[in-house]
Amino acid sequence: MSISKRIVTIVFLTSIFLVFIVFAVSKKELKKPNIVFIMSDDHAFQAISAYNEKLIQTPNIDEIANQGIIYNKAFVTNSICAPSRAVILTGKFSHLNGVKGNSEVFDGSQQTLPKILQNNGYQTAIVGKWHLKSNPTGFDYWNVLPGQGDYYNPDFIKQGKDTIYKGYVTEIITDLSVNWLKNRNKNKPFFLMMHHKAPHRSWMPAIKNLGLFDEKEFPLPENFYDDYDGREALKTQMLTVKDHMDIRMDFKVPCNECDTGSVNFWAPGEYWRRLDRLSPEECQVWEDSYKKEETEFFQVKDDEAKYDQWKFRRYMEDYLRCIASVDESVGQVLNFLKENGLDENTIVVYTSDQGFYLGEHRLFDKRFMYEEAMRTPLMIKYPKEIKKETHSDLLVQNLDISPTLLDMAQVEIPADMQGNSLRKTWNKNPSEWRDAIYYHFYEKGWGVSRHYGIRTNRYKLIHFYDDVDFWELYDLKEDPSEMNNVYDEVSNEKIIAQLKTKLAKLQLQYNDADFEKN
Ligand code: CA
Repeated sequence: MSISKRIVTIVFLTSIFLVFIVFAVSKKELKKPNIVFIMSDDHAFQAISAYNEKLIQTPNIDEIANQGIIYNKAFVTNSICAPSRAVILTGKFSHLNGVKGNSEVFDGSQQTLPKILQNNGYQTAIVGKWHLKSNPTGFDYWNVLPGQGDYYNPDFIKQGKDTIYKGYVTEIITDLSVNWLKNRNKNKPFFLMMHHKAPHRSWMPAIKNLGLFDEKEFPLPENFYDDYDGREALKTQMLTVKDHMDIRMDFKVPCNECDTGSVNFWAPGEYWRRLDRLSPEECQVWEDSYKKEETEFFQVKDDEAKYDQWKFRRYMEDYLRCIASVDESVGQVLNFLKENGLDENTIVVYTSDQGFYLGEHRLFDKRFMYEEAMRTPLMIKYPKEIKKETHSDLLVQNLDISPTLLDMAQVEIPADMQGNSLRKTWNKNPSEWRDAIYYHFYEKGWGVSRHYGIRTNRYKLIHFYDDVDFWELYDLKEDPSEMNNVYDEVSNEKIIAQLKTKLAKLQLQYNDADFEKN
């Protein structure tokens, strides 16, 4: 063979080899799973039928659980909106990611899940509630609500530009998300964060859903009249259904001459500001829909027991109406994946930024380390790896989301992330898993004191500190509703000592041992 022939042969073989390599690499890229991460805001696990059938049917959200895994003990590290989002993005506790409360600005230059995925071949998008003050980073496409956002005809910030969309926020977030999926680059795997505003206060439903649950009875939770005996920290809060909701903003009764019941000077005005976003026709439908409630209000307001029941029903009706739209949204996204052959290779996560009280301990809202707020719904579907109808009672956290999704995307999990990949929880009994959850809440306001604590499978130990100094201990096996603080019982000295040791160890592990000095 002549030299020139040899060169031609070598070039030819090298080209074939290179084509093969490129093909193999791109095939591997294609094999990476797509990710749809759906998060609602303040969605209590009690209001998902996969967890509890008493309040609402959520067939589409349940479908994720039916097709995958549902976690019965999923918790947040700090039960409030912005901090939870920062934990999910970074896989780090609040004191390290810089967002301890709702007022801090997220430092978008730090390492985040979307950035790492983007650097590893993913196209990334976030649509809906962001709530971290700085502009989103690490997203090829972002279209987010400013601050808390509005329910009706809401403003958005689309890639830095002020935009307004006509319609209902949950439906708009769904349409924008599905549109992005439709127009994506089909040669790359995708990561979509679809973040709903609903069902955040003040629970304004889609106009079409204003009549939902009109006929449903809502019995008060057993501890609706909690007297807070033995629990000093609960006595100062201003977050009860009975005494701290606003007659206009929360209950939607436009009574100008009424004492609005609000502890917030801005709340009655907020009602009108939010309604002003509706068109005159929509506003008419709204006012007609709430006529019945207004009439009832005047019938019950002087009878305490009936008034309490009415308040709770008003709260539940609108809260659940908002969830009905979220469930519909989940159904639309699942359908899109199915119809486009993306069902098998897409991980779908459903969660909330934290839980919520639905009248338990008299409360609405979140913040406290008691179960209903500390717990959050979490379910994951990925047919390739997760068996249908898997239930997990392992202690998992929102801290685990970043490591899990990186693990699934075949990307190395950075050593400074503090959560664990949930991949090992998909089989019943992983050899190693955490036996306790660490929690730390910082935000001041509404009469809630700062607190931190530990939750094991059986016990919960909480220390309220800063402006107060109270300890609480609950035996969750004997007292799942956390009504009896048994911290002062002599027989518990040993378990308290053990829990305190474990707590100190977790604080050291998570680099939060020195916070009281800060
Ligand atoms: Ca929230």
